[in-house]
Amino acid sequence: MRGVVFDGRRVEVVDDLVVREPGPGEVLVAVAAAGLCHSDLSVVDGTIPFPVPVVLGHEGAGVVAAVGPGVTHVAPGDHVALSTLASCGTCAECDRGRPTMCRRAIGRPARPFTRGAEPVYQFAANSAFAERTVVKAVQAVRVPEDIPLTSAALIGCAVLTGVGAVLNRARVDRGDSVVVLGTGGIGLNVLQGARLAGALRIVAVDANPAKEEAARRFGATDFLTSADGVRELLPTGADHVFECVGRVELIRRAVDLLDRRGQAVLLGVPPATAEASFPVSALYLDKSILGCRYGSARPQRDIALYAELYRRGRLLLDELVTAVHPVEDFEKARADAEAGRVARAVLTF
Ligand SMILES: [Zn+2]
Ligand SMILES: [Zn+2]
Repeated sequence: MRGVVFDGRRVEVVDDLVVREPGPGEVLVAVAAAGLCHSDLSVVDGTIPFPVPVVLGHEGAGVVAAVGPGVTHVAPGDHVALSTLASCGTCAECDRGRPTMCRRAIGRPARPFTRGAEPVYQFAANSAFAERTVVKAVQAVRVPEDIPLTSAALIGCAVLTGVGAVLNRARVDRGDSVVVLGTGGIGLNVLQGARLAGALRIVAVDANPAKEEAARRFGATDFLTSADGVRELLPTGADHVFECVGRVELIRRAVDLLDRRGQAVLLGVPPATAEASFPVSALYLDKSILGCRYGSARPQRDIALYAELYRRGRLLLDELVTAVHPVEDFEKARADAEAGRVARAVLTF
């Protein structure tokens, strides 16, 4: 079958990939569509260290092809969106509603694929850039069949991360002020999360003025091409500033823009060794800096919720898809993403 493989030097669309059958508690999914997220490219450029060879992709949706023993919540033919969170479901963190903190789900990459005799790693417990992939049952979340799979695909990373950061981590409240630095796939979802939460002032900042229209459609009440103008709109600062780019100078900027009791939420991913600095006094008056893993999501609940909000017209998914390419054209999608031309390029199988 076809898939997008990174061997440590280059990315290749191959057609000799094999995936094993689902074991107990696993689901085999025929992937229909998968979004290209910056994290996939971060594996290729080394920002996210990952063993190779690896099948890329971690934001997909498709149709259940087979289920292993013990799986009862989905059946062959069901449409599912995939999460990247292979949480165990039985540890204390899972049990307290924090599956993103499950230690058994982090740092143990599996190798369910082979090419010839060589095992191939699965990226983010997911590898959605393959015609078929095997995931844990907890990762396959049933979605209604009237949602286009090219749109449902994006729920599993961009939407869970962006909307989840707003609702689950920052817990933005009605009337709050929100600043979003960077309006790519994650930033747009932070914007619509802030709108869902009832934020009053939602300021989008992106150096590219061409992003204004999309930012406003997703919920921005104001758009700026530089954070310099934020203080004119919010003289006392913001309740929440989301850094969605992954640059240390913008992280510092986020801290500087906080109002009393404000919080900076870090969603961008700078290189693993990057350090940021700020004056300690900048955190006086109850300010805080928050990390956020995967939108602090509970995927079985959140993916179903976002799918339903989409059906009711309250959450935008179709508008996130700005280019669709067959998987063979991975390089076109990559060029689109690297040029910042698209919110999301989606690959189809
Ligand atoms: Zn992602
Ligand atoms: Zn667990």
